[in-house]
Amino acid sequence: MSRPAWVEIDLSALQANYAAAQVVHGGRVFAVLKANAYGHGALPCAQALAAQADGFAVAFVEEALPLRAAGITAPILVLEGAFDADDVQQAARHQLWLVVHQARQIELLAQHGGAPLHAWIKVDSGMHRVGFAPHEVAAVQERLAACPQVTQISFMTHLARADELEQPLHTLAQLQQFDEAVGALPGWRSVSNSAGIVAWPQTHRDWGRAGLMLYGAAPCASDTVLRPVMRLKSRIFAERWLEPGQSVGYGAIFTAPRRTRVGLVAMGYADGYPRTTPNGTPVAVDGQRTQTLGRVSMDMMTVDLTNLPNTGPGSEVELWGDLVPVGTVAAANNTIAYELLCHVQRVPRKVM
Ligand SMILES: *Cc1c(COP(=O)(O)O)cnc(C)c1O
Repeated sequence: MSRPAWVEIDLSALQANYAAAQVVHGGRVFAVLKANAYGHGALPCAQALAAQADGFAVAFVEEALPLRAAGITAPILVLEGAFDADDVQQAARHQLWLVVHQARQIELLAQHGGAPLHAWIKVDSGMHRVGFAPHEVAAVQERLAACPQVTQISFMTHLARADELEQPLHTLAQLQQFDEAVGALPGWRSVSNSAGIVAWPQTHRDWGRAGLMLYGAAPCASDTVLRPVMRLKSRIFAERWLEPGQSVGYGAIFTAPRRTRVGLVAMGYADGYPRTTPNGTPVAVDGQRTQTLGRVSMDMMTVDLTNLPNTGPGSEVELWGDLVPVGTVAAANNTIAYELLCHVQRVPRKVM
């Protein structure tokens, strides 16, 4: 017997979601695999998409190397670009496409003497983290075009508020800044993240960059049908009754108003289920929705079985997946699905 907690990764759902991103966006789409494919496993995800994907994207060079080592030959865009000269060497050797978002990175490319490089100039159209100001873009393009080792130049920007459909002005202003900055310069353009792909057709350019939507979590309200890729699961391993007035767990944050049957689930914050989860957060037991109660501890948590008479020790629990969207658990925790997906750890992964 071993602890009954696991995470299922449904690669057919990943393939269907990628296909949906391609249909909705048109043109080409990077499958974003940074942060170990948002906690889903970068290598199995890349392999599942290898026959389909126009390209992949990762955050930094070290995330790309295992994909190349495993025989992934599609383009890989490195979203943060090079941190040092060694990154540029690796990018050239493994044909990685490098984002260039600051002057130091232009120098790193200019000093590089090796194989040809494809640079993606990042325009700061309003996110104001990294990227060149719109008025600098033409000069950056000219400087890179003058480097013989830079054989292709493309342009990208990143949207700060595309998930807020009721706040269109920021997104539309970013789009205008980007289009004006790039003007008629030759090269591909890429603007849309997942929310841009599903909700902002005017942001679609040569390449989309699909992250969250690949994993089947909705980036914002939309008609695009997505299938959850991750199911975080466990089982009830014990049960007990609380009498009215008794409380359960650290901090006694749940006190039973009536006789309450509590199921103990082998899942805790050390597995990535958030400790901040409040009472009443949805969870499914043997396919039926119920709710959490009491504080999530490191290795176990408690759920309400009072109204589910046929459940008990051995019952299967879905923390998130098909019946409980990860976004619902995230919202209950004042965070986003991205963070919960990335934080899953310790539990064995079953790729299917
Ligand atoms: C992570 C990332 C994406 C993907 O964003 P999603 O919202 O997950 O689709 C796209 N572009 C850049 C630059 C990113 O860093």
